[in-house]
Amino acid sequence: MARYTDAVCKLCRRERQKLFLKGAKCYTEKCPVERRNYPPGQHGGTNARRAKVTEYGLQLREKQKIKRTYRLLEKQFRLSFEKANRQQGITGENLVRLLETRLDNIVYRLGFGSSRNAARQLVLHRHITVNGKSVNIPSFHVKTGDVVQVRPKSRKLDAIHDAMKRVNDRSIPSWVQLDKANMKGTLLNLPERADVPLNANEQLVVELYSK
Ligand code: SF4
Repeated sequence: MARYTDAVCKLCRRERQKLFLKGAKCYTEKCPVERRNYPPGQHGGTNARRAKVTEYGLQLREKQKIKRTYRLLEKQFRLSFEKANRQQGITGENLVRLLETRLDNIVYRLGFGSSRNAARQLVLHRHITVNGKSVNIPSFHVKTGDVVQVRPKSRKLDAIHDAMKRVNDRSIPSWVQLDKANMKGTLLNLPERADVPLNANEQLVVELYSK
């Protein structure tokens, strides 16, 4: 599967905001956004000050920001959008809800992975079960009441323990319930947009794709 392999901190600097792609480093003063909050490149700071941002440019940046936050490639993101568009309700909110209930995101939100990428690796390597069954599909949609758990054999993995120690760096959202001792979590309800800690305007993505 294709994946993004360039330095991820550049993605945050391009969006000029923390996207929390690196795990522990994101919560320290070593985060490059804390030190150099301007786009990467030789003239990044100068160009950012001079550039006039068009409506299309704003929409594109919001799309890139959300896509990068959830670590998706264009095609995966587009498919999520199309699914959201087919659902009843507000498309932008549907989109955020669909992204939030992906299995890799729920594993991240529960703190089993230090970043979404780390969470995706846990899923791909069959360290995660849903309702007791192994699921290795990161895009699997978790439903209300589903129980997501670290497989018994995997509960000694250092990477998971390290990630769980740092779970207090970021709060566990209200729509999931974590049972730390048993390394398991339950999706209590589908998240409302206002409860999702995502600093982006998904409505601009809807406008972009509606052209
Ligand atoms: Fe890098 Fe994390 Fe800071 Fe983004 S938030 S720049 S991924 S350390």
